[in-house]
Amino acid sequence: MATATIIDGRVLAKAVKDSLAIRVTRLKAEGRKARLDAVLVGGDQGAHLYAKNQAKACCAVGIEYMLHDLPETASQKDIELVISGLNENPVVTAIMVHLPLPEGVDADVIQTMIAVDKDVEGVNPANIGNIVFGRRSLVPCTALAVMEMIESTGIEICGALAVCVGASTIVGKPVAVLLMQAEATVISTNIHTKKREELTKCADILISAAGVPNLIGAEHVKEGAVVIDVGINRVEGEDGKKRTVGDVDFDGVSSVAGFISPVPGGVGPMTVAMLLRNTVQAAE
Ligand code: NAD
Repeated sequence: MATATIIDGRVLAKAVKDSLAIRVTRLKAEGRKARLDAVLVGGDQGAHLYAKNQAKACCAVGIEYMLHDLPETASQKDIELVISGLNENPVVTAIMVHLPLPEGVDADVIQTMIAVDKDVEGVNPANIGNIVFGRRSLVPCTALAVMEMIESTGIEICGALAVCVGASTIVGKPVAVLLMQAEATVISTNIHTKKREELTKCADILISAAGVPNLIGAEHVKEGAVVIDVGINRVEGEDGKKRTVGDVDFDGVSSVAGFISPVPGGVGPMTVAMLLRNTVQAAE
């Protein structure tokens, strides 16, 4: 039985961070710096934990990190004022807004306000538009992570058949667009796609970003394919304990695929590395 090569997101992320530390040192030598300002509104525990980890990750490569922790009662106008201030502040080179935002706040309006050249999560629609035109742009971090992981396998993307399972604005669609830019033949599928299994079975590159545990089994995968699992799902194990799994049946698919990314330890750590890389790119 063949066993797929694991695409280790932690190892790839470490290499990216090492190279970023050198770029940040170079910026400092020129009297410049990279600074990420994050806006967090309300008491969401997940967002606070993410912000804490983000601060640590930034510090490790020499990026300054500033958290703007606003109360749950902050209004749309209050948040817009913070974003305008950050847009205009020349010391701030990168901005991101933690989700979720409180009920009644329009996240789309807030994200679209972020200056295009400081939008390190690639959530301003202008940044997605720039990808379509093949212009240099700040690309959504998870989509970038997926591309880096595919490229790390050394397979030829140009001419490959790529199937994306899931078509959200922040993951599935940008991944499909980046693969099109790399001249793959791309099929984008969603919850309404008919005979999805027949499509995935033909894929040289299969990306799953649906958020459904065990959605992709060995029988849905072509032999030798590159399989990237973006899903993050919390499920209860046989021992009653909660654990994190992706969308892909890792053990089953490993016996068919050529390359596979695990969850945890796959796309997640690479997404953080891509946020840091975008932050350094924005500063440069
Ligand atoms: P979303 O809910 O916005 O979109 C899900 C997409 O999957 C939709 O297009 C939907 O039509 C499709 N879908 C749902 N069920 C399906 C099914 N049974 N068959 C085929 N398609 C189906 O989700 P999202 O924000 O894109 O996130 C997707 C998953 O990726 C989640 O598990 C999320 O936690 C994870 N995620 C991981 C990272 C990371 O850094 N690793 C980043 C973002 C999202």
